[in-house]
Amino acid sequence: MPNLVVVGTQWGDEGKGKIVDLLTEQARMVVRFQGGNNAGHTLVVGGEKFIFHLIPSGILHPGKVCCIGNGVVLDPEVLLGEMERLVARGVAVGPENLRISERTQVIMPYHRRLDQARERARGDGKIGTTGRGIGPCYEDKIGRRGIRMADLLDEAGFRAKLAEILPEKNFLLEKFLGDQPFTLEEILEPYLEMGRRLRPLVTNVSVLLEEAVRRGENILFEGAQGTHLDIDHGTYPFVTSSNPVAGSACVGAGIGPQHLHRVLGIVKAYTTRVGGGPFPTECRDAIGDHLVECGVEFGSTTGRRRRCGWLDMVVVREAVRLNGLTGLAITKLDVLTTLDPVRLCVAYEVDGRRRETMPATLEELSRCTPIFEDLPGWREDIRGVRRFEDLPAATRSYLRRVEELAGVPLQIVSVGPARDETIMLQNPFA
Ligand code: GDP
Repeated sequence: MPNLVVVGTQWGDEGKGKIVDLLTEQARMVVRFQGGNNAGHTLVVGGEKFIFHLIPSGILHPGKVCCIGNGVVLDPEVLLGEMERLVARGVAVGPENLRISERTQVIMPYHRRLDQARERARGDGKIGTTGRGIGPCYEDKIGRRGIRMADLLDEAGFRAKLAEILPEKNFLLEKFLGDQPFTLEEILEPYLEMGRRLRPLVTNVSVLLEEAVRRGENILFEGAQGTHLDIDHGTYPFVTSSNPVAGSACVGAGIGPQHLHRVLGIVKAYTTRVGGGPFPTECRDAIGDHLVECGVEFGSTTGRRRRCGWLDMVVVREAVRLNGLTGLAITKLDVLTTLDPVRLCVAYEVDGRRRETMPATLEELSRCTPIFEDLPGWREDIRGVRRFEDLPAATRSYLRRVEELAGVPLQIVSVGPARDETIMLQNPFA
């Protein structure tokens, strides 16, 4: 059976949560492979709003196994909080539906404090991190001084590692950033306790996936953030500290590339960004306000207003290439209703020349101006439409043009936040 990776094609917040939730019905396992609790998927199910930062949204579906892969950085306090909130709303959470890799890196209190203190110290040049310790945790992973889930289950080993790591963290916090240090004891016991509570969920996720593959079960890999926030391929340094591109599912879950059969790219019908960095199609006008207001473009994790602009097909085409997309899902199409014309950025102009790809430097990107193609808009309410042929002609033309420019089949169109406000053209698993 095919396995599917779902990724964001832009700068995150494309509405992946809803699409993943829809596709979960066809999967046995849902796996997160990168990022941390900076993700924040919002889901509306049965009129109830659920926000997840860490747990895959598949948890709302009975009979599914959600996995947190080794590529994720996990804040155990946040995870336990999400589990408690789910339980309070009647959703059972336990080893039968949630598993965590023993190799998953743990976000420690000093990661959060460092993240916030550094962002403060950067002043105007800040990256716009969520301050949750995600970047510093990934730094420690690569620096080979990370704490992993397995460490929380081994008291002596954890104490020894902490004793080795803390002096350096405290030196940085106190001497360089003018912040408060930590004592070993204030971290040790609470983290061991959280380790005890999470122990039943901790396992070798790679082996679980191998078994699922052997049984012929479908696996859904749920990407967080978006392609252009990728630490390697994104608009560096205004990026996240992991690899949201599809190939990262192999590394971050522990599965070989031959098992990733399909890659669905989620494209919001316009573009948004949180934080700094050049943004060629940004609308700092009434159109931008329309997109923010109708699209409710405020971060689900931070509440920050997102910068908004027209759909940038240069950005999307990069995502097609970088992820090897096999299909597209367009979300929030309803937000474009009443705008006329609707604009599509088909290329950039820089120094009097046409450019089809994203430049590597922010300096050059900031000099790129969009080349727009204007298409007729539509005024009809499309939220009730369930079949492609029932969409207004102008809406269909817009979608077909996006598909043509991307060079990848359009498989899903989302016309509202609810699960059923969806037009399915092709099954992304097929
Ligand atoms: P994610 O992290 O990629 O899932 O993105 P967000 O958490 O920012 O989710 C996007 C927001 O848009 C959520 O509040 C969804 O309920 C909402 N949403 C998703 N699809 C649609 C859609 O087609 N139309 C509208 N109006 N809202 C949507």
